[in-house]
Amino acid sequence: MNYYFDVFKIRKDFPFFINNPDIIYLDSAATSHKPSIVIEKEKEFYEKYNCNVHRTSGSFSLKVEEMCENSRKTIANFLNCDESEIFFTYSATYGINYIAYFLCINEYLGNDDEVIITEMEHHANLLPFLNLSKIFGFKVKVWKMNEKLELDIEELQKIISDKTKLLAVTHMSNVLGVVNDIENIVKICKDRGLMVLVDGAQGIVHNHVDLKKWDLDFYVFSAHKLYGPLGLGVVYVNKKHSKKKKPAFSGGSIISYVSLDKITYLDSPYFFEPGTQAFAQIFAFKYAIEYLKNLNLEKVKMYEIGLTKYLLEKLKELDFVEIYGNYEEVNDKRFAIVPFNVVNLHSHDVSFVLDRFNVLIRVGHHCAQLIHHKLGIPGSCRVSIAFYNTKEDIDKFIEALKQVKFLISKN
Ligand code: PLP
Repeated sequence: MNYYFDVFKIRKDFPFFINNPDIIYLDSAATSHKPSIVIEKEKEFYEKYNCNVHRTSGSFSLKVEEMCENSRKTIANFLNCDESEIFFTYSATYGINYIAYFLCINEYLGNDDEVIITEMEHHANLLPFLNLSKIFGFKVKVWKMNEKLELDIEELQKIISDKTKLLAVTHMSNVLGVVNDIENIVKICKDRGLMVLVDGAQGIVHNHVDLKKWDLDFYVFSAHKLYGPLGLGVVYVNKKHSKKKKPAFSGGSIISYVSLDKITYLDSPYFFEPGTQAFAQIFAFKYAIEYLKNLNLEKVKMYEIGLTKYLLEKLKELDFVEIYGNYEEVNDKRFAIVPFNVVNLHSHDVSFVLDRFNVLIRVGHHCAQLIHHKLGIPGSCRVSIAFYNTKEDIDKFIEALKQVKFLISKN
């Protein structure tokens, strides 16, 4: 494995690293950095094209509309689905909330029904269901992790009942790096008549997604974790759910006719997009996806797996570090995200010291408290890797971590 692929050349595409040459950024699961093409395109939008869409038939408006539809096409190709199945919102969190509420008001979910969520979920794929269950009367069941902190398919088979209508599951854990077998999970759910909502916020960053093959119901992610702009979420809605429903949120741009007693809605995806959209971000996101595709997704993944192996080797040499999860082996089932703690130290103290050495990681519960309850700890440190990280980043992180132990034991 050549850990370097073209990483030093690649880093030159990222202004963040040019402006911050001393920063070791190991927090891409929180948000990723953007290649200059994405930043330039967002700027170009405001400088050259800025206007609203669907409001006038003027040439500028039509141009912006065409640019955004081109982005939708690029995203649909990337996910392997139809353009009409993609709608834009503001983040993964907003996307999941939209779908959860959409399912409730369209009576997919109600009294006596059950929704299964997993113990591995980010709060974004947990709280919308817990909150709405109190209003709409459905019950939330939990698919628990096994001792290896993985989700067993047999356990899912056991907890599905005749009342279960939906499984909400993460593609990849934002704490453990575990990649769930979505294809198999969907097969089981379809056999038992369940819908499946997949939180792809982390999964799409590191894994190939094929929505036609999986044939699931909903897939949601944020552009900012996938090297794209902040403020943009993408939701896939299988076309079987898009016809003649009530919109979860409404307003301008989603109708063809309104009177006080009759509303005629536009078809999907516009039906799902009330109000002014994040046009600059939608336009720029296309270039993030093209950038990633040009790097070659399979090569990126192999590089990230190689770097995770290197990180684990180094981390395991430190006797004052406890690593969580089944990291015996690093492969495409678990990589890129590694949780750990320094024994007897609070994770915030660790980050405070690492920060002094210009090493940025995430600490705390990472909006996934169910995982931390299972581990019996309040929080953890999390290193997350992207293709622009290097072996040198890992070495500097490990050296800083040794200083954490040294500095704290002196006090
Ligand atoms: N789901 C997972 C697995 C995540 O890691 C995150 C963010 O960390 C989210 C959902 C929420 O993403 P956003 O904050 O962009 O809405």
